Amino acid sequence: MEPLGAEERIWHRPRMASLLIVEDEAPIASLLSDHLRRRGHEVSVASDGDEALACLGLLDAPAPGVPDLVVLDVMLPGRTGLEVCAALRRARLARQPVVLMLTAKRNEEDAIAGFEAGADDYVRKPFGVAELVRRIDALLALAARTPAAPPRHAGLHIDTRARTVHVGEREVHLTPKEHDLLVHLATHRGVVLDRERLLVDVWGYTHAGYARTVDSHVTRIRKKLEAAGLSEAPITTVHGVGYRYEEP
Ligand code: CA
Repeated sequence: MEPLGAEERIWHRPRMASLLIVEDEAPIASLLSDHLRRRGHEVSVASDGDEALACLGLLDAPAPGVPDLVVLDVMLPGRTGLEVCAALRRARLARQPVVLMLTAKRNEEDAIAGFEAGADDYVRKPFGVAELVRRIDALLALAARTPAAPPRHAGLHIDTRARTVHVGEREVHLTPKEHDLLVHLATHRGVVLDRERLLVDVWGYTHAGYARTVDSHVTRIRKKLEAAGLSEAPITTVHGVGYRYEEP
């Protein structure tokens, strides 16, 4: 087990969270679950996609409840992690968990496919346990963060405490990271935010060269808001720079 470095201490340690690890390689699953349990988290482990869906309550059998965060390996026997993630995001849950994908492949397409399936973040294998724990802490801290003033826009209501978004009476189902990005833009309305800065502020660290992540999230937020009946999503593209949330 590698020790956590000094850098780990600068990260705010979030409250105890419930985590689900979906990983078919038993040594990795037990290394991770041991480490996360020692940090005070409640950890469940599933070794394939069907077991993951059962743990998430997406099969017929009753489940203990939706965890705060799912660590989801892409390469699983049978149903892949991408399929599990897409099924989870389609489900009408009162609360969606944060999803962190584990990907073995080196190419960027795997990461993009993960985001398109609704993942909030990814870590490439092989990974250091300390790095993964820090990412989990950062994701949980961001998910728990509640901005002071709920922003409003004509026809659009964002409730930052309940973490819900409505267009009129219709609820818009956003992933945790889509929600965080929308709230971040809305709380800086009228200000142009560049993509690199959004990566740092919303994702919590720099993904050098992954500005497309921001673009794909903005595209999905716009589609969802407009599909729910908003005539035009209030997020404007500022070409070559980033995005601006328009004043109501
Ligand atoms: Ca695997």
